[in-house]
Amino acid sequence: MIACAPVKGYFEVNSYFWVDDETNHGFLIDPGAQGHELMHLCHENGWIIEKILLTHGHFDHIGGIAAIREETDIPVYIHEAGEAYLVDTHLNLSRYCHCDMTVHGAKHFRDRDVFRLESNLACSLRVIHTPGHTPDSVIFYDQRHDAAFVGDTIFKGSRGNDQYPGGNGMQLIRSIRQRVLTLPDQTVLLSGHSDETSVSAEKRYY
Ligand SMILES: [Zn+2]
Repeated sequence: MIACAPVKGYFEVNSYFWVDDETNHGFLIDPGAQGHELMHLCHENGWIIEKILLTHGHFDHIGGIAAIREETDIPVYIHEAGEAYLVDTHLNLSRYCHCDMTVHGAKHFRDRDVFRLESNLACSLRVIHTPGHTPDSVIFYDQRHDAAFVGDTIFKGSRGNDQYPGGNGMQLIRSIRQRVLTLPDQTVLLSGHSDETSVSAEKRYY
């Protein structure tokens, strides 16, 4: 199952729980704020989170990690290009919202890596690198359930901002055309800041 948990820090952002119905184990994607509340939701539902996966290193996608680490030591994963964002308040933009934020000790992944649930190896998410909004932006693709967690690469009817440090508009459009909209038409796109959409619905804009 996939549960969207909107959280509010400086901005509102969609955090997602991706949980295997059989084992109740899963991943938490982009805990952007309210880490204690997200953990409370896990306890209430009996979810065991094996890993925290980040679509990119902007502060509104990582802001809940500090509170989560007060309670547990769930490992955090980000694209290898994202390490710079996790430790730099200028790059991750937290400096400009007066809420300096860094995350240390994250593990790194690359394009095409696959994350499998340790409790159920049939459940997996594939990393698809989609630079443009930031150099470290990725989407996590769940082929089995026709869903993709797309962060700030694409939204319902729009796309991510390319004006922040490291952003690149041409690269963003190329990523969307070549790496997002080439997924099957029925793929549901679950973004950081909009209602869900689908590959077929977004194709008309590109
Ligand atoms: Zn962002």
